[in-house]
Amino acid sequence: MAYGDLQSTRSSIRKMKLPEKVREWWPLALISGILGGIGTLLTSIYQDAVGPFLAHVLPAVNNKTLLLLCLLLFLVCMLMIAWVAFIAFGDKARMMRNYEHLETRGFWVHRKTGKRVCGNCLIKGIESPLTVLSVSGYRSGSVILWVCGNKDCDKRYPFEQGDIKAD
Ligand SMILES: [Zn+2]
Repeated sequence: MAYGDLQSTRSSIRKMKLPEKVREWWPLALISGILGGIGTLLTSIYQDAVGPFLAHVLPAVNNKTLLLLCLLLFLVCMLMIAWVAFIAFGDKARMMRNYEHLETRGFWVHRKTGKRVCGNCLIKGIESPLTVLSVSGYRSGSVILWVCGNKDCDKRYPFEQGDIKAD
């Protein structure tokens, strides 16, 4: 992998941030949309049909059916709230909040311990620590890189002077 490839990898990581955010928030947008739709529907029903509805339809609908419908609506709402809560406060979201994304570097750093982890793995819910390795096979000979410990990933991040304090 040449250094140019490394640069393109870094920019592709940056591009991955947005879809992740979208994925986290689209259920909220969906619910807002559904609630908005229901609101619009109710308003139009109220304006156009509340008179005839009260006069003809309501007495015809069984009270038990109405109760069941309300219960069903309530259950659907509860499920959606649980879904949003799961996404916002789930294990993965909580785990990712412990880390800070270093945009110029590509990897993530633990806010308390400073441990560096692979961003590629973190968004999949895996905390994979990075290790400094001297990797050969580059045009300039061997290069010192941060390498992801997950063999299925093996992502590399550029090493910079001062990353590791001299003992
Ligand atoms: Zn990785």
